[in-house]
Amino acid sequence: MFLQQPQFHDDEAARAYFERIRWPDGRVCPHCGVIGAEYATKRAGRYRCGAKECRKDFSTTTGTVMEQSHIGLSKWLWVFYQMCASKKGISSHQVRRSLGVSMKAAWFMTHRVREAMKAGGLAAPLGGPGKVVEVDETYHGKIAEASERRTKRKRGSTTKLGGSRRVGDKRAIVTLIERGGQARTFHVAKADLPTVQKIVRENIAKESRLHTDGSGLYTAVGKEFAAHESVDHSQEEYVRYEPTGPVHNNSAESYFSVFKRGMKGVYQHCQEKHLHRYLAEFDYRHNTRTKLGVDDKQRADLLLAGAEGKRLTYRRTHGKGQHAR
Ligand SMILES: [Zn+2]
Repeated sequence: MFLQQPQFHDDEAARAYFERIRWPDGRVCPHCGVIGAEYATKRAGRYRCGAKECRKDFSTTTGTVMEQSHIGLSKWLWVFYQMCASKKGISSHQVRRSLGVSMKAAWFMTHRVREAMKAGGLAAPLGGPGKVVEVDETYHGKIAEASERRTKRKRGSTTKLGGSRRVGDKRAIVTLIERGGQARTFHVAKADLPTVQKIVRENIAKESRLHTDGSGLYTAVGKEFAAHESVDHSQEEYVRYEPTGPVHNNSAESYFSVFKRGMKGVYQHCQEKHLHRYLAEFDYRHNTRTKLGVDDKQRADLLLAGAEGKRLTYRRTHGKGQHAR
């Protein structure tokens, strides 16, 4: 099996493997961009740039989400591969058990891999002429943990804070899925009209056909697209056959169902501030799914190849200082 290969057990093999993926045309100095001018230093995996005006040191992982980590590269590759191979992902508890690392290190690694999974900033809009983009929203988890939501009174006030549970207490998620193509999913503070309209406008090509449920959130913005067709779930209508093709939002529904099963089974305690990273993880696997011709190994390799420039410090991830390396 793939996971028995040396790059998952031996840091030297891992380094060679990762460098082949990261630098297929020779080592690139991350400081000045010069290719193949480096020479090796005494420390394995550390190089000095040979370009006259640069001369800076770099390592196999400089500029990647693994930079400056003291965790062995073979362990990193194992986590990358596991998070790409399983449909629902892998929890940091499993990582801790399997690799024998601390819980903090396991948590740090999984979040860094998620950071690498985030699609690059200026992605092209979804859809296009003749393409269908499904849009749907859902609610998942609680906004705050039960302990944080305990009913309390402001000093000197009679107003209760928190307390009762409403639909509004759930975390709102909006997904856009090009049928047969890519998904882009957002955690929003509130799935209200201005928020949803903004996401739809900014991420979907106007030539696309929009498919939604009967929600009023899409009525006005739908007019800006080549077509807007909806199915009325409240009337038990899930697919309607039109001359232009079937109308439904089954891709979005099935995305949400994979997400919810995964979050239930693997990630039981996801804090709201990290939800966007988990969504990036599910988007990444969806966007490189087997149906699109990407296998488990390629899915991880693609991610490793793109693991650059997305360094996330522990401070930023955790919000409480202290680096886990
Ligand atoms: Zn250089």
